[in-house]
Amino acid sequence: MEILQTPLKKFYIKTYGCQMNFSESEIISGLLLREGFKPAEDIQEADIIILNTCTVRDTAANKIIGKLGELKKLKELNPGLILGIGGCFAQAESEFLCRKAPFLDFIFGTQNKLIIPDLIKMVESSRISDDYETVLDISVQDESQFEYTDVSYSNPVSAWLPIMQGCDNFCSYCIVPYVRGKEISRLPGDIIQQVSGLAERGYKEIILLGQNVNSYGKRFSVKTDLQVTFTELLKNISNIEGIERIRFITSHPKDLSDDLIDLMSTEKKICKSLHLPVQSGSDRILKLMKRQYTREYYLGLISKLKTKIPEISFSTDIIVGFPGETEDDFNDTVELVKEVRYEQGYLFRFSVRTGTAAEKLPDHLSEEVKKDRLWRLMEIQDRITEEESRKYSGKTIPVLVEGADFKKEGEHLTGRTETNKIVIFNGSEKLIGNIVKVKINRTTPYTLFGEVI
Ligand code: SF4
Repeated sequence: MEILQTPLKKFYIKTYGCQMNFSESEIISGLLLREGFKPAEDIQEADIIILNTCTVRDTAANKIIGKLGELKKLKELNPGLILGIGGCFAQAESEFLCRKAPFLDFIFGTQNKLIIPDLIKMVESSRISDDYETVLDISVQDESQFEYTDVSYSNPVSAWLPIMQGCDNFCSYCIVPYVRGKEISRLPGDIIQQVSGLAERGYKEIILLGQNVNSYGKRFSVKTDLQVTFTELLKNISNIEGIERIRFITSHPKDLSDDLIDLMSTEKKICKSLHLPVQSGSDRILKLMKRQYTREYYLGLISKLKTKIPEISFSTDIIVGFPGETEDDFNDTVELVKEVRYEQGYLFRFSVRTGTAAEKLPDHLSEEVKKDRLWRLMEIQDRITEEESRKYSGKTIPVLVEGADFKKEGEHLTGRTETNKIVIFNGSEKLIGNIVKVKINRTTPYTLFGEVI
Protein backbone atom coordinates (compact mmCIF):
# COMPACT_ATOMS: atom_id res chain seq x y z
CA MET A 1 0.00 0.00 0.00
CA GLU A 2 1.32 3.40 -0.93
CA ILE A 3 1.70 5.72 2.05
CA LEU A 4 0.79 9.30 1.23
CA GLN A 5 2.97 11.79 3.07
CA THR A 6 1.77 15.27 3.94
CA PRO A 7 4.10 17.71 2.16
CA LEU A 8 6.31 19.71 4.51
CA LYS A 9 5.00 23.16 5.32
CA LYS A 10 6.96 25.93 3.60
CA PHE A 11 7.82 29.22 5.30
CA TYR A 12 8.69 32.66 3.98
CA ILE A 13 10.16 35.45 6.11
CA LYS A 14 10.00 39.08 5.01
CA THR A 15 12.40 41.28 6.99
CA TYR A 16 12.35 45.06 7.46
CA GLY A 17 14.89 47.35 9.14
CA CYS A 18 18.39 46.93 10.48
CA GLN A 19 21.04 44.18 10.47
CA MET A 20 19.81 43.08 13.90
CA ASN A 21 16.42 42.24 12.35
CA PHE A 22 18.04 40.42 9.42
CA SER A 23 20.20 38.47 11.85
CA GLU A 24 17.13 37.58 13.94
CA SER A 25 15.36 36.37 10.79
CA GLU A 26 18.30 34.00 10.24
CA ILE A 27 17.75 32.71 13.78
CA ILE A 28 13.98 32.24 13.13
CA SER A 29 14.76 30.51 9.85
CA GLY A 30 17.16 28.12 11.63
CA LEU A 31 14.50 27.32 14.24
CA LEU A 32 11.89 26.51 11.61
CA LEU A 33 14.30 24.33 9.63
CA ARG A 34 15.08 22.42 12.83
CA GLU A 35 11.33 21.87 13.32
CA GLY A 36 11.10 20.31 9.87
CA PHE A 37 9.67 23.23 7.88
CA LYS A 38 11.13 24.09 4.46
CA PRO A 39 11.97 27.54 3.05
CA ALA A 40 9.63 28.71 0.26
CA GLU A 41 11.13 30.16 -2.90
CA ASP A 42 8.65 33.04 -2.85
CA ILE A 43 5.76 34.38 -0.80
CA GLN A 44 3.11 32.88 -3.14
CA GLU A 45 4.10 29.28 -2.43
CA ALA A 46 4.44 29.66 1.36
CA ASP A 47 2.19 27.96 3.94
CA ILE A 48 3.57 30.17 6.73
CA ILE A 49 4.46 33.83 6.20
CA ILE A 50 6.29 35.80 8.89
CA LEU A 51 6.92 39.55 8.79
CA ASN A 52 9.87 40.60 10.94
CA THR A 53 9.23 44.29 11.36
CA CYS A 54 10.85 47.61 12.19
CA THR A 55 9.37 50.80 13.58
CA VAL A 56 12.41 53.04 13.75
CA ARG A 57 11.25 55.15 10.81
CA ASP A 58 8.00 56.05 9.07
CA THR A 59 9.01 54.46 5.79
CA ALA A 60 9.39 50.98 7.29
CA ALA A 61 6.11 51.27 9.24
CA ASN A 62 4.24 52.42 6.09
CA LYS A 63 5.67 49.53 4.06
CA ILE A 64 4.54 47.05 6.73
CA ILE A 65 1.00 48.44 6.76
CA GLY A 66 0.98 48.14 2.94
CA LYS A 67 2.22 44.55 3.16
CA LEU A 68 -0.60 43.64 5.56
CA GLY A 69 -3.11 44.46 2.79
CA GLU A 70 -1.29 42.01 0.50
CA LEU A 71 -1.30 39.31 3.21
CA LYS A 72 -5.03 39.77 3.79
CA LYS A 73 -5.69 39.05 0.10
CA LEU A 74 -3.44 35.96 0.18
CA LYS A 75 -5.33 34.67 3.20
CA GLU A 76 -8.68 35.18 1.46
CA LEU A 77 -7.40 33.02 -1.42
CA ASN A 78 -5.88 30.44 0.94
CA PRO A 79 -7.60 30.31 4.36
CA GLY A 80 -5.12 27.61 5.49
CA LEU A 81 -2.24 30.08 5.31
CA ILE A 82 -0.57 30.87 8.67
CA LEU A 83 0.39 34.53 9.07
CA GLY A 84 2.70 35.79 11.81
CA ILE A 85 4.16 39.21 12.56
CA GLY A 86 6.91 40.13 14.99
CA GLY A 87 9.77 42.46 15.77
CA CYS A 88 9.76 46.13 16.76
CA PHE A 89 6.58 47.28 14.96
CA ALA A 90 4.63 44.32 16.35
CA GLN A 91 5.99 44.99 19.85
CA ALA A 92 4.97 48.65 19.72
CA GLU A 93 1.69 48.28 17.82
CA SER A 94 0.30 44.92 18.98
CA GLU A 95 -3.06 46.42 19.97
CA PHE A 96 -3.40 48.17 16.62
CA LEU A 97 -2.57 44.89 14.83
CA CYS A 98 -5.10 42.88 16.84
CA ARG A 99 -7.80 45.44 16.03
CA LYS A 100 -6.97 46.23 12.39
CA ALA A 101 -5.57 42.90 11.18
CA PRO A 102 -7.59 40.10 12.80
CA PHE A 103 -6.59 37.82 9.90
CA LEU A 104 -3.10 37.54 11.50
CA ASP A 105 -2.60 34.20 13.27
CA PHE A 106 0.16 35.13 15.67
CA ILE A 107 2.04 38.19 16.93
CA PHE A 108 5.39 37.97 18.69
CA GLY A 109 7.61 40.64 20.22
CA THR A 110 11.29 41.45 19.98
CA GLN A 111 12.27 39.03 22.72
CA ASN A 112 10.28 35.90 21.94
CA LYS A 113 11.34 34.77 18.52
CA LEU A 114 12.45 31.43 20.03
CA ILE A 115 8.83 30.46 20.74
CA ILE A 116 7.65 30.85 17.13
CA PRO A 117 7.45 27.06 16.53
CA ASP A 118 5.20 26.83 19.64
CA LEU A 119 3.05 29.70 18.36
CA ILE A 120 2.61 27.89 15.03
CA LYS A 121 1.56 24.72 16.88
CA MET A 122 -0.94 26.74 18.95
CA VAL A 123 -2.44 28.20 15.78
CA GLU A 124 -2.74 24.76 14.19
CA SER A 125 -4.42 23.21 17.22
CA SER A 126 -6.79 26.18 17.66
CA ARG A 127 -7.90 25.65 14.06
CA ILE A 128 -8.64 21.98 14.73
CA SER A 129 -10.62 22.81 17.87
CA ASP A 130 -12.33 25.74 16.13
CA ASP A 131 -11.32 27.96 19.04
CA TYR A 132 -9.65 30.48 16.82
CA GLU A 133 -8.19 33.87 17.69
CA THR A 134 -4.89 35.66 17.05
CA VAL A 135 -2.20 34.28 19.36
CA LEU A 136 -0.37 37.20 20.94
CA ASP A 137 2.91 36.93 22.86
CA ILE A 138 4.99 40.06 23.25
CA SER A 139 6.20 39.24 26.75
CA VAL A 140 9.76 40.03 27.81
CA GLN A 141 11.73 36.80 28.02
CA ASP A 142 14.58 35.77 30.30
CA GLU A 143 18.13 34.93 29.26
CA SER A 144 16.94 31.98 27.16
CA GLN A 145 16.43 34.51 24.37
CA PHE A 146 20.17 34.15 23.74
CA GLU A 147 20.18 30.41 23.02
CA TYR A 148 20.99 30.52 19.34
CA THR A 149 21.94 27.05 18.26
CA ASP A 150 20.70 26.50 14.72
CA VAL A 151 21.06 29.79 12.90
CA SER A 152 20.46 29.61 9.14
CA TYR A 153 23.11 32.03 7.87
CA SER A 154 22.32 33.59 4.51
CA ASN A 155 25.96 34.31 3.62
CA PRO A 156 28.41 31.37 3.38
CA VAL A 157 31.46 33.43 4.32
CA SER A 158 30.40 36.24 6.60
CA ALA A 159 28.13 35.77 9.66
CA TRP A 160 26.17 38.30 11.67
CA LEU A 161 26.35 37.60 15.36
CA PRO A 162 24.26 39.47 17.96
CA ILE A 163 26.32 40.00 21.12
CA MET A 164 23.73 41.99 23.04
CA GLN A 165 20.10 43.11 23.08
CA GLY A 166 18.33 46.35 23.91
CA CYS A 167 19.62 49.80 24.77
CA ASP A 168 19.84 51.98 27.89
CA ASN A 169 20.53 55.28 26.16
CA PHE A 170 17.06 56.67 25.46
CA CYS A 171 18.08 59.12 22.75
CA SER A 172 15.06 61.41 22.63
CA TYR A 173 13.94 60.44 19.10
CA CYS A 174 14.45 56.69 19.38
CA ILE A 175 11.87 53.95 20.01
CA VAL A 176 14.44 51.13 20.39
CA PRO A 177 14.77 51.17 24.22
CA TYR A 178 10.95 50.94 24.47
CA VAL A 179 10.57 48.03 22.05
CA ARG A 180 13.79 46.10 22.71
CA GLY A 181 14.13 46.65 26.44
CA LYS A 182 17.19 47.26 28.60
CA GLU A 183 20.70 46.49 27.42
CA ILE A 184 21.78 42.89 28.09
CA SER A 185 25.02 41.29 26.89
CA ARG A 186 25.53 37.65 25.98
CA LEU A 187 28.15 35.78 27.99
CA PRO A 188 31.60 36.02 26.36
CA GLY A 189 32.10 32.24 26.60
CA ASP A 190 28.94 31.64 24.53
CA ILE A 191 30.03 34.16 21.91
CA ILE A 192 33.54 32.67 21.64
CA GLN A 193 32.07 29.19 21.34
CA GLN A 194 29.72 30.31 18.56
CA VAL A 195 32.50 32.10 16.66
CA SER A 196 34.81 29.05 17.00
CA GLY A 197 32.04 26.87 15.58
CA LEU A 198 31.62 29.26 12.66
CA ALA A 199 35.38 29.25 12.02
CA GLU A 200 35.33 25.44 11.92
CA ARG A 201 32.53 25.61 9.35
CA GLY A 202 34.70 27.84 7.14
CA TYR A 203 33.33 31.30 7.99
CA LYS A 204 35.97 34.00 7.49
CA GLU A 205 34.23 37.14 8.69
CA ILE A 206 32.20 37.88 11.83
CA ILE A 207 30.04 40.98 12.18
CA LEU A 208 29.24 41.61 15.84
CA LEU A 209 25.85 43.24 16.33
CA GLY A 210 24.34 45.31 19.08
CA GLN A 211 22.48 48.59 19.46
CA ASN A 212 25.58 49.94 21.19
CA VAL A 213 28.40 47.38 20.97
CA ASN A 214 30.92 49.64 22.72
CA SER A 215 29.10 49.28 26.02
CA TYR A 216 29.19 45.46 25.84
CA GLY A 217 29.64 43.84 29.25
CA LYS A 218 27.69 46.36 31.33
CA ARG A 219 24.98 43.84 32.23
CA PHE A 220 25.00 40.13 31.38
CA SER A 221 22.12 37.80 30.60
CA VAL A 222 22.77 35.87 33.84
CA LYS A 223 23.98 36.99 37.26
CA THR A 224 27.78 36.92 37.20
CA ASP A 225 30.85 38.76 38.54
CA LEU A 226 32.45 38.67 35.10
CA GLN A 227 33.99 41.91 33.95
CA VAL A 228 34.66 41.89 30.23
CA THR A 229 34.75 44.98 28.03
CA PHE A 230 34.04 45.10 24.31
CA THR A 231 37.77 45.59 23.61
CA GLU A 232 38.60 42.44 25.59
CA LEU A 233 35.90 40.48 23.77
CA LEU A 234 37.33 41.64 20.42
CA LYS A 235 40.85 40.58 21.47
CA ASN A 236 39.57 37.10 22.31
CA ILE A 237 37.69 36.78 19.04
CA SER A 238 40.80 37.92 17.14
CA ASN A 239 42.66 34.92 18.58
CA ILE A 240 40.28 32.43 16.97
CA GLU A 241 42.03 30.65 14.15
CA GLY A 242 40.26 30.77 10.78
CA ILE A 243 38.48 34.07 11.41
CA GLU A 244 40.19 36.64 9.21
CA ARG A 245 37.96 39.68 9.48
CA ILE A 246 35.96 41.18 12.31
CA ARG A 247 33.49 44.04 12.00
CA PHE A 248 31.09 45.49 14.55
CA ILE A 249 28.03 47.68 14.45
CA THR A 250 26.72 50.01 15.95
CA SER A 251 29.15 52.15 17.93
CA HIS A 252 27.95 54.98 20.14
CA PRO A 253 30.53 57.81 20.08
CA LYS A 254 30.25 58.37 23.85
CA ASP A 255 31.41 54.78 24.55
CA LEU A 256 34.21 54.48 21.98
CA SER A 257 37.23 54.02 24.24
CA ASP A 258 40.92 54.75 23.58
CA ASP A 259 41.59 51.04 24.23
CA LEU A 260 39.31 50.12 21.36
CA ILE A 261 40.92 52.66 19.01
CA ASP A 262 44.37 51.27 19.94
CA LEU A 263 43.22 47.71 19.30
CA MET A 264 41.70 48.70 15.95
CA SER A 265 45.01 50.25 14.95
CA THR A 266 47.11 47.19 15.84
CA GLU A 267 44.91 44.13 15.30
CA LYS A 268 45.01 43.16 11.61
CA LYS A 269 41.78 41.15 11.74
CA ILE A 270 39.67 44.15 12.79
CA CYS A 271 38.43 45.89 9.67
CA LYS A 272 39.43 49.50 9.21
CA SER A 273 35.94 50.85 8.82
CA LEU A 274 33.68 52.30 11.43
CA HIS A 275 29.99 53.16 11.46
CA LEU A 276 29.83 56.07 13.89
CA PRO A 277 26.39 57.73 13.97
CA VAL A 278 26.66 61.47 14.56
CA GLN A 279 22.94 62.32 14.06
CA SER A 280 23.57 66.10 14.05
CA GLY A 281 26.48 68.53 13.80
CA SER A 282 24.84 71.09 16.10
CA ASP A 283 25.54 71.03 19.83
CA ARG A 284 22.10 72.48 20.55
CA ILE A 285 20.37 69.69 18.63
CA LEU A 286 22.68 66.97 20.02
CA LYS A 287 21.59 68.09 23.48
CA LEU A 288 17.90 67.97 22.54
CA MET A 289 18.52 64.51 21.06
CA LYS A 290 20.14 63.44 24.39
CA ARG A 291 23.13 62.04 22.53
CA GLN A 292 25.55 62.73 25.44
CA TYR A 293 28.44 64.13 23.35
CA THR A 294 29.31 67.40 21.67
CA ARG A 295 30.35 68.23 18.14
CA GLU A 296 33.88 68.93 19.39
CA TYR A 297 34.10 65.57 21.17
CA TYR A 298 32.85 63.72 18.06
CA LEU A 299 35.28 65.48 15.73
CA GLY A 300 38.07 64.79 18.26
CA LEU A 301 37.28 61.07 18.02
CA ILE A 302 37.35 61.19 14.22
CA SER A 303 40.68 62.98 14.27
CA LYS A 304 42.15 60.47 16.76
CA LEU A 305 40.95 57.57 14.59
CA LYS A 306 42.31 59.14 11.38
CA THR A 307 45.70 59.73 13.03
CA LYS A 308 46.04 56.20 14.44
CA ILE A 309 44.43 54.39 11.47
CA PRO A 310 45.12 56.48 8.34
CA GLU A 311 43.33 54.04 6.01
CA ILE A 312 40.08 54.05 8.05
CA SER A 313 36.73 54.76 6.36
CA PHE A 314 33.65 56.10 8.11
CA SER A 315 29.92 55.83 7.65
CA THR A 316 27.23 57.52 9.70
CA ASP A 317 23.54 58.11 10.46
CA ILE A 318 22.09 61.62 10.40
CA ILE A 319 18.61 62.93 11.19
CA VAL A 320 17.70 66.29 9.66
CA GLY A 321 14.73 68.43 10.66
CA PHE A 322 14.75 67.50 14.34
CA PRO A 323 12.26 69.67 16.33
CA GLY A 324 13.65 73.17 16.71
CA GLU A 325 16.46 72.69 14.14
CA THR A 326 17.29 76.08 12.63
CA GLU A 327 19.04 76.75 9.34
CA ASP A 328 22.22 77.46 11.36
CA ASP A 329 21.94 74.08 13.15
CA PHE A 330 21.48 72.39 9.77
CA ASN A 331 24.53 74.19 8.38
CA ASP A 332 26.57 72.87 11.33
CA THR A 333 25.63 69.36 10.19
CA VAL A 334 26.56 70.17 6.58
CA GLU A 335 29.97 71.49 7.67
CA LEU A 336 30.61 68.42 9.82
CA VAL A 337 29.77 66.11 6.90
CA LYS A 338 32.22 68.02 4.69
CA GLU A 339 34.91 67.81 7.35
CA VAL A 340 34.62 64.08 8.15
CA ARG A 341 34.01 62.98 4.52
CA TYR A 342 32.01 59.82 5.22
CA GLU A 343 32.23 57.12 2.57
CA GLN A 344 28.56 56.48 3.19
CA GLY A 345 25.82 58.38 4.99
CA TYR A 346 22.42 57.05 6.01
CA LEU A 347 20.41 60.25 6.01
CA PHE A 348 16.85 60.56 7.25
CA ARG A 349 14.32 63.29 7.95
CA PHE A 350 12.97 63.29 11.47
CA SER A 351 9.74 61.38 11.96
CA VAL A 352 8.13 61.37 15.36
CA ARG A 353 7.82 58.04 17.23
CA THR A 354 4.90 57.91 19.63
CA GLY A 355 5.98 57.77 23.27
CA THR A 356 9.49 59.13 22.79
CA ALA A 357 10.72 62.32 24.50
CA ALA A 358 11.04 64.10 21.13
CA GLU A 359 7.29 63.79 20.61
CA LYS A 360 6.75 66.37 23.36
CA LEU A 361 9.37 68.84 22.11
CA PRO A 362 8.11 72.17 20.73
CA ASP A 363 8.80 73.55 17.25
CA HIS A 364 8.28 70.51 15.05
CA LEU A 365 9.23 71.47 11.49
CA SER A 366 7.05 71.21 8.41
CA GLU A 367 7.56 68.24 6.06
CA GLU A 368 8.50 70.74 3.36
CA VAL A 369 11.44 72.11 5.37
CA LYS A 370 12.58 68.62 6.41
CA LYS A 371 12.47 67.33 2.82
CA ASP A 372 14.34 70.35 1.51
CA ARG A 373 17.14 69.93 4.08
CA LEU A 374 17.35 66.21 3.44
CA TRP A 375 17.74 66.73 -0.32
CA ARG A 376 20.42 69.36 0.19
CA LEU A 377 22.41 67.14 2.54
CA MET A 378 21.98 64.10 0.28
CA GLU A 379 23.40 66.03 -2.65
CA ILE A 380 26.51 66.89 -0.63
CA GLN A 381 26.94 63.37 0.76
CA ASP A 382 26.43 61.79 -2.70
CA ARG A 383 29.22 63.97 -4.09
CA ILE A 384 31.56 63.02 -1.21
CA THR A 385 30.68 59.30 -1.60
CA GLU A 386 31.51 59.48 -5.30
CA GLU A 387 34.79 61.34 -4.71
CA GLU A 388 35.87 58.94 -1.95
CA SER A 389 34.99 55.98 -4.18
CA ARG A 390 37.11 57.34 -7.03
CA LYS A 391 40.14 57.23 -4.72
CA TYR A 392 40.15 53.41 -5.04
CA SER A 393 40.72 53.62 -8.80
CA GLY A 394 44.02 52.03 -9.87
CA LYS A 395 44.69 50.61 -6.39
CA THR A 396 45.22 46.91 -5.65
CA ILE A 397 43.32 45.95 -2.49
CA PRO A 398 42.50 42.81 -0.49
CA VAL A 399 38.92 41.64 -1.04
CA LEU A 400 37.06 38.89 0.81
CA VAL A 401 35.20 36.95 -1.90
CA GLU A 402 31.64 36.46 -0.65
CA GLY A 403 29.74 35.03 -3.59
CA ALA A 404 29.06 34.87 -7.28
CA ASP A 405 26.27 35.68 -9.66
CA PHE A 406 26.19 32.35 -11.47
CA LYS A 407 23.89 33.68 -14.21
CA LYS A 408 26.50 36.18 -15.37
CA GLU A 409 29.65 35.68 -17.38
CA GLY A 410 32.78 37.84 -16.95
CA GLU A 411 32.70 40.07 -13.87
CA HIS A 412 30.55 37.98 -11.59
CA LEU A 413 32.32 37.48 -8.26
CA THR A 414 31.38 39.79 -5.40
CA GLY A 415 33.32 40.67 -2.31
CA ARG A 416 34.10 43.44 0.13
CA THR A 417 37.12 45.54 0.93
CA GLU A 418 38.19 46.01 4.53
CA THR A 419 36.54 49.40 4.29
CA ASN A 420 33.22 47.69 3.48
CA LYS A 421 33.05 48.66 -0.22
CA ILE A 422 31.40 46.13 -2.54
CA VAL A 423 33.73 44.91 -5.31
CA ILE A 424 32.68 43.08 -8.48
CA PHE A 425 35.33 41.27 -10.48
CA ASN A 426 36.03 38.20 -12.58
CA GLY A 427 37.52 34.93 -11.40
CA SER A 428 36.81 31.35 -10.47
CA GLU A 429 34.04 30.49 -8.02
CA LYS A 430 36.68 28.49 -6.14
CA LEU A 431 37.85 31.84 -4.76
CA ILE A 432 34.69 32.23 -2.62
CA GLY A 433 35.78 32.40 1.01
CA ASN A 434 39.32 33.62 0.21
CA ILE A 435 40.89 37.01 0.53
CA VAL A 436 42.32 37.95 -2.88
CA LYS A 437 44.08 41.00 -4.28
CA VAL A 438 41.92 42.91 -6.74
CA LYS A 439 43.06 45.79 -8.95
CA ILE A 440 40.31 48.39 -9.20
CA ASN A 441 39.69 49.57 -12.77
CA ARG A 442 36.37 51.35 -12.47
CA THR A 443 34.33 52.91 -9.68
CA THR A 444 30.74 53.98 -9.09
CA PRO A 445 29.71 55.65 -5.81
CA TYR A 446 28.83 52.39 -4.06
CA THR A 447 30.58 49.69 -6.11
CA LEU A 448 34.12 49.05 -7.33
CA PHE A 449 34.95 46.94 -10.39
CA GLY A 450 38.28 45.20 -10.94
CA GLU A 451 40.32 42.15 -11.75
CA VAL A 452 42.12 39.58 -9.60
CA ILE A 453 45.87 40.07 -9.57
S1 SF4 B 1 21.90 54.54 21.21
FE1 SF4 B 1 20.19 55.96 20.97
S2 SF4 B 1 19.71 55.79 18.78
FE2 SF4 B 1 20.92 53.98 19.30
S3 SF4 B 1 19.40 52.43 19.82
FE3 SF4 B 1 20.01 53.40 21.74
S4 SF4 B 1 18.48 55.02 22.04
FE4 SF4 B 1 18.34 54.37 19.91
